[in-house]
Amino acid sequence: MAKPLQGHSARKRFGQNFLVDDDYIDRIIEQIAAHPDDHIVEIGPGLGAITQRLLPPNCKTLTAIEIDNDLVERLKNQHDDQITIVHSDVLNVDFAELAKRMSPAGDGSAPSMKIVGNLPYNISSPLLFHLSRFMPSISEIHVMLQKEMAQRIYAESGTKHYGRLSVMMQYHFDVALGFHLPPGAFHPPPKVDSSFIELHPRQSISLVCDDIELMSAVVNEAFQQRRKTLRNTLKNRLKDEDFEQLAIDPSQRPDALCVDDYVRISNYLSAQQHNL
Ligand code: SAM
Repeated sequence: MAKPLQGHSARKRFGQNFLVDDDYIDRIIEQIAAHPDDHIVEIGPGLGAITQRLLPPNCKTLTAIEIDNDLVERLKNQHDDQITIVHSDVLNVDFAELAKRMSPAGDGSAPSMKIVGNLPYNISSPLLFHLSRFMPSISEIHVMLQKEMAQRIYAESGTKHYGRLSVMMQYHFDVALGFHLPPGAFHPPPKVDSSFIELHPRQSISLVCDDIELMSAVVNEAFQQRRKTLRNTLKNRLKDEDFEQLAIDPSQRPDALCVDDYVRISNYLSAQQHNL
């Protein structure tokens, strides 16, 4: 049975591993570097280890999105006058709407939000894809991830961790590793190491993708069998003459291509679809 935390029993189904190590909490707060003008959205505030260090006036507005009834009640009791609490599954939250509601004049102009969170690891990947749909509303993201997943996000092409997540996340974001945390920084301790990372929406994208869903499908197919060549994995989409047009060697494996190569492939396919 889980040990009580301020009388709360950690719920496994919500991925509740609460931060309990003050040194690591300090480092997280340092990395987030809240500014009095910031609009911060915290995902999964839990028992408030990060929340209480971000409260206004450390930032302009603090919004907390929490799924667990009991934790929502606690937050309301403790901080109702200081934060906006959204009782919801974060995957159902429309971040563009959330930003609009923060508009000081209520005139529909939306400020850019800083997103922070020590997330349940089982939703990290869907959450990052969900957030990537709201880029104009987001200025930066600071998240805790399973170390192995963080490695996949910032992996460079040609390395063993490089895959679908690296390509799709690096298309949207500049990624920086903050630091790693051992299981003992949490209670109850998770079975894996964790990493706190920082993602910034890319300001200037050299090559813009025309159809992100198509790119995602192509990257997915390419990496489904990562030891096979592109000629093999993408055979239903590209012939040798197409690879020649793209100046991409089809005998390479999917991890040899950089993000822009995948953008070029999907833009090429998108143009072909429009010319049919
Ligand atoms: N931030 C706290 C901390 O660092 O101690 C809690 C972290 S705990 C790993 C994850 C938090 O996310 C829990 O409070 C959990 O209830 C909440 N949570 C889990 N799934 C969620 C979801 N789909 N939407 C919103 N919150 C969620």
